[in-house]
Amino acid sequence: MDMTGNKTCVLGAGRSGIAAAQVMRGLGADVTLWDGKKPETLSEELIALSKEGVHLELGDAASDFLAKMKLVVTSPGIAQEHPLLQQAVLLGIPVWSEVELAYRLCRAPMVAITGTNGKTTTTTLLGELAKTTFAKVAVGGNIGDPLSLQVTPLTENDLAVAEISSFQLEWVDKFAPHVAAILNITPDHMDRHKTLEGYTAMKERIFLGQSQDDYVLLNHDDSGVRALAPHCKGRVVYFSRLTTLDEGVFVAKGQVCIRWQGQQHAVFNLSELQIKGDHNVENVLAACGTAFFAGIAPDKMAAVLANFRGVEHRIEWVRAVDGVDYYNDSKATNPESTIKAIEAFEEKLLLIAGGYDKHTDLTPMMKLLAQRNALLILIGAAADRFADAAAQNGVVTIRRAVDMAAAVALAKESAEKGQVVLLSPACASYDMYSGYEERGRHYKSLVEAL
Ligand code: ADP
Repeated sequence: MDMTGNKTCVLGAGRSGIAAAQVMRGLGADVTLWDGKKPETLSEELIALSKEGVHLELGDAASDFLAKMKLVVTSPGIAQEHPLLQQAVLLGIPVWSEVELAYRLCRAPMVAITGTNGKTTTTTLLGELAKTTFAKVAVGGNIGDPLSLQVTPLTENDLAVAEISSFQLEWVDKFAPHVAAILNITPDHMDRHKTLEGYTAMKERIFLGQSQDDYVLLNHDDSGVRALAPHCKGRVVYFSRLTTLDEGVFVAKGQVCIRWQGQQHAVFNLSELQIKGDHNVENVLAACGTAFFAGIAPDKMAAVLANFRGVEHRIEWVRAVDGVDYYNDSKATNPESTIKAIEAFEEKLLLIAGGYDKHTDLTPMMKLLAQRNALLILIGAAADRFADAAAQNGVVTIRRAVDMAAAVALAKESAEKGQVVLLSPACASYDMYSGYEERGRHYKSLVEAL
């Protein structure tokens, strides 16, 4: 794409905004990068960008700086109602997300994965599967390096694998991955999308640009996702953990099977899978299905699947101490994820939960904990609300800890041989940490020190 001299503006100087500015500058555009941050917090990266000729508009931007722009590329953190985005729309300036930019720059076919939960696990696994077949594979989007930085070296014979969040779909236009998948939809990010319908409408955009030559994989076991089939433009392929399908990707006699156009492939024996939980079986089905339609032969998949150990902070085994297994599931930032983690274990659980409160409904999670007779250790700003919900739903043993160190110490003191200590907070981490990664690593360091 030649952008020589085009006046473009990037909103938000986070990772994807900086990437978009860099890439468009490289294509010859006259780029302005805006961020609400004050100029005194200029990072090394911003200084470098400015040396490359990117104009910086920081802090309170002059209100008319958008007027001359031909294109606005916005960051996932900026809500649609933001005055600058509203102004761009009023001025008739096209607005793209960084993913739209990446799509336009990408010559390779793209596979895009979205859903409320499981995106990173599925995308990472698909990336590994793709490496068996394609010389070059870019894996990015909501994970890893921004896609726009990675796609330019790819040719028609390579593959781009994209993890896509609902925020990144807010501003797409021509975006049309050759293969798309929607893993599941449960209420999340309601502060941004307001209603489940609004959130679902955003997720749908992953396939709205597709044509009949493209494929969209939908989770047959999720009624909300299944209901999207009539809106699809590409060919609908279901995957299901629970039902044997006439056509699609499913489990039969413990094997992952792909049945398509009269042919059936037995891909993998699930007893060899190292990642825990039924939800991960769904992620495996989605990864195998998308891989198949991206052109990866079924007989190449088993070895990759058997070796896949999951992604850090997702039901990650840390260590055994005195016969007690410690797991880190810091990425579980909503109750649905924590439920999946609880369900992945048969052992008696000591669950460390709590953090920054997202005011989600805790009833099903607490009922499950009560039924499992789990010990609940609460930390963080949400501890009071969690304690009330736990008591109301019959959880008998509820303990409080002032911080993560105290929680781990309490777990160590209370756990007996054969039991499992699980950090799966059902909350964001911002009350105590910069993000779930920092929280998970702190927990792991405390467990390592036991
Ligand atoms: P995402 O990138 O969508 O946040 P991850 O793969 O990082 O998803 O998984 C985050 C958490 O979501 C995991 O720790 C797990 O508890 C839960 N999870 C993963 N896959 C699924 C799934 N298919 N269905 C429901 N929950 C899942």
